[in-house]
Amino acid sequence: MHRTARVALRVTPGQRRRCFGLLRSAGDVWACVLEVNGWRCRRRDAPLSGYQELCRELSASGPGTFGELDSTGARSVLRRFSDSWFAAAKRRSAGDVSARFPRRRRGLVPVRWYHRTFTVDGQRVRIPTARGTAPLWVRLAREVPYPAEQVRSVTLLCEGGRLFLDVTAEVPVAVYPPGEGPDPARVAGVDLGIIHPYAVAGPDGEGLLVSGRAIRAEHRMHLADTKARRRAVARRAPRPGQKGSRRWRQYRRRARLVEGRHRRRVRQAQHEAARSVVSWAVEQRVGVLHVGDPRGVLDIDAGRRHNLRLRQWQIARLLQVLTDKAVLAGITVRLVDERGTSSTCPACRRRVPKPRGRTLSCPHCRFSGHRDLVAAASIATRTPGGGPPWQPLCCRRWSRTVEPAGTSLVPDGPDVTPAAQHGRREDQLARGGPPHHPVGSRSPPRRGSTTPTANPVNVSGHRTR
Ligand SMILES: [Zn+2]
Repeated sequence: MHRTARVALRVTPGQRRRCFGLLRSAGDVWACVLEVNGWRCRRRDAPLSGYQELCRELSASGPGTFGELDSTGARSVLRRFSDSWFAAAKRRSAGDVSARFPRRRRGLVPVRWYHRTFTVDGQRVRIPTARGTAPLWVRLAREVPYPAEQVRSVTLLCEGGRLFLDVTAEVPVAVYPPGEGPDPARVAGVDLGIIHPYAVAGPDGEGLLVSGRAIRAEHRMHLADTKARRRAVARRAPRPGQKGSRRWRQYRRRARLVEGRHRRRVRQAQHEAARSVVSWAVEQRVGVLHVGDPRGVLDIDAGRRHNLRLRQWQIARLLQVLTDKAVLAGITVRLVDERGTSSTCPACRRRVPKPRGRTLSCPHCRFSGHRDLVAAASIATRTPGGGPPWQPLCCRRWSRTVEPAGTSLVPDGPDVTPAAQHGRREDQLARGGPPHHPVGSRSPPRRGSTTPTANPVNVSGHRTR
């Protein structure tokens, strides 16, 4: 299993200049390939696309053509070109005419070096450069999270004006002592959402809610900040074709930095959220995660505001991050159809009007529970590929709650759902975000609870009798 960690670089101005020189040289290699193929196209020759033939052209160009970039690094650019060329060709032959061959020049192209060409020594990395040039040692902002002997490749890249090194390592799948590993018979359902990026319902009526309010707040604040910035400088913006001032360039640099920081924050929060789901699943010995795939909603035009909300949700990223971490922990992830799970009563299987708040309460059978956990529990019962199976939820704890008519259907709240029993996970991501008070923090104390740990609680938030 290959996993990649992005580590920032701490560089002196001289090292920075050399690193950017390498990236720019890689951009030159890329542009050269485009140029050569342009000539060949005009001559009605077949384009150069195979890695081998591109390498032949590179070696024909001789040493020193691409500054300090060594041949391994230059070949990695050719590999990148060849891969994207064949990917486009494959998509085109499959009938996708919108797929285009690489045609755009890029100023900076990431460079990758494989095992044995670079050296990792604690927080220092030697980046290979062309023969005859001084060795280039750079410092990493943090330790590489993998043992040095597992590292397979490093990729130098620039994002938002900052230099990063993507360190790829071969990581073994986790092994557990017998009887303690994930059990394939134990299935948990995962509902992806905006307020709760992951809501997980486990096999024993246990649940986990991960709050995404901090991510949402980060998106909102970033948008407000960007808008304010744009308004402030709109007057100074150069016209098309006009050369920008030094001050304008400074503004652009600042905007790029802020954008990069925003992206890193969101990505970090997504990884932390997925990490807490996978650790919880390992703790619960869950062997299979059924994840509701909501990507169908992306094709629907839902208006300006909601479209933005959907893009910021980054469903595919959430799925990818969760799958990566689960596979590494030895847990299988299966995508299932999630249609209707958040609007179906799990007890009587009838359609329920979509709840406005976080609590789903059924007008037919007086069932009530946390909306996202209910959806997750329904997802757990679904099978990949097939439609929704019409079996009632077999867990005995799913007995509907019998309450006298006229009483509030608000559940005891997340403070008694197992989700909240699992420590402060719900608030883990809310650090730095707006204060998040679970509904239950205002609810009256539970009736006749003597030993809270002995109280069986189900996902619906009600104690069974
Ligand atoms: Zn019902």
